[in-house]
Amino acid sequence: MNKVETKWPPTYDRSYLPKNDEPYWNREVETMDAEQLRQHVLEKLKRQIRYVYDHSPFYRKKWSAVGFEPGDLKDFKDFEMLPFTTKQELREDQLENPPFGSNLCISPDEIYHIHGTSGTTGKPTVFALSKGDWERMAEAHARIMWGFGLRPTDKVFIGSVFSLYMGSWGALAGVERMGAAAFPFGAGQPGQTEKAVRWLLDVKPTAFYGTPSYALYLAEKAKEMGIDPKEFNIRILFFSGEPGAGVPSTRKRIEETFGGICVDTGSMAEMTPWMANGECMHRQGMHLWQDIVYTELVHPETKQVVPYGEEGVPVYTHLEREAQPMVRLWSGDLSLWTNEPCPCGRPYPRLPKGIYGRADDMIVVRGVNVYPSAVEDIVRSIDGLSDEFRIVVTRENIMDELTVQVEPDTAGAHDTNALTNTLQQKLKTVLGLTVQVELLPAGTLERTEFKARRVIDKRSFK
Ligand SMILES: [Zn+2]
Repeated sequence: MNKVETKWPPTYDRSYLPKNDEPYWNREVETMDAEQLRQHVLEKLKRQIRYVYDHSPFYRKKWSAVGFEPGDLKDFKDFEMLPFTTKQELREDQLENPPFGSNLCISPDEIYHIHGTSGTTGKPTVFALSKGDWERMAEAHARIMWGFGLRPTDKVFIGSVFSLYMGSWGALAGVERMGAAAFPFGAGQPGQTEKAVRWLLDVKPTAFYGTPSYALYLAEKAKEMGIDPKEFNIRILFFSGEPGAGVPSTRKRIEETFGGICVDTGSMAEMTPWMANGECMHRQGMHLWQDIVYTELVHPETKQVVPYGEEGVPVYTHLEREAQPMVRLWSGDLSLWTNEPCPCGRPYPRLPKGIYGRADDMIVVRGVNVYPSAVEDIVRSIDGLSDEFRIVVTRENIMDELTVQVEPDTAGAHDTNALTNTLQQKLKTVLGLTVQVELLPAGTLERTEFKARRVIDKRSFK
């Protein structure tokens, strides 16, 4: 039995495996009641914070500025007094203290893995992990994967880039820890998707990991090659890197296309490879596995933790990371949380609508807030449209115009006027905004093997 760890950082028995019919990987923790979990998380939090204070010049400086010492942390309300950490701050600190920044809490020769962001929106951020971090992260992955139904008998196809991006590596480490068969196929090379289709048919993996955009792209390629994606016989598709798997109509499309279940996981690059937001097999929104990463939902303006049932910005704190721990990392995402019980019985709160937006992704058009995920949900709820879409915002004189570009799917003849009208009506009803719809010839919109960029804002705000 995998016991409740009381020392920090915890070490886990790498040979431990639950029985195949056991629903919980760590029964001791996953069947706690809310109060027991609260105490358990608080104890881990105290130890993590003490460690960070002793080892991280970055956090010591931040906390000294507000007069905080680890002994002050007696309850969560004390923790809530700590300042947030932003991605921008981490980047600036790494520029001043290259390459790892002043939040590196281990000596450079103890670094086991180096990863980072791709740097598409500025200077990349560098991430370091210790060997212990890697093992704990693998344990966390295996535990969450167990929760959504993966077992050592599974074969897991990892269809995402093996490079700086940590999502692929986290999935791989979890699969290895569980003892399932790992199939690290990767993605992103020219012609690789066609090859993926062939390999999927030949090897018949039972599980798939990637981004939702990529799964849909792969399905489209398969259909072009005359293959029904159901022939792959994949029973579990799990995703991170994009919010799509939590968008109801995208989830429905993935499940109907592949005939397997669609599972949403993931938080943000700085927290990876810990996948501590993850759905269980009941798929009622991602659980916040609070004893691995402690997550708060914080009101974007008042900066106070919001009650269950309300919307806020997820703020993350590692509870098992020693190399470069994040404390109160401001995600900038938006979600809603609940503590309504889940059929799985775990005490973790959930994000029933997934992570559905980013404060900085929101487009304001004629005073109306539009989230790309809302448009995604509408487009993919309409039969006859392909999975791809673009949102183009323009400004004519003083009026903002929002155009949604879509394509018919390749299934056959469509009444294009009817498709356009249906979409326009639905967008108007749900968004409360008149939107232009452009139906483009099938295959016009760019496909992606990684994360899709679907918003083009042509307005000038000078
Ligand atoms: Zn559950």
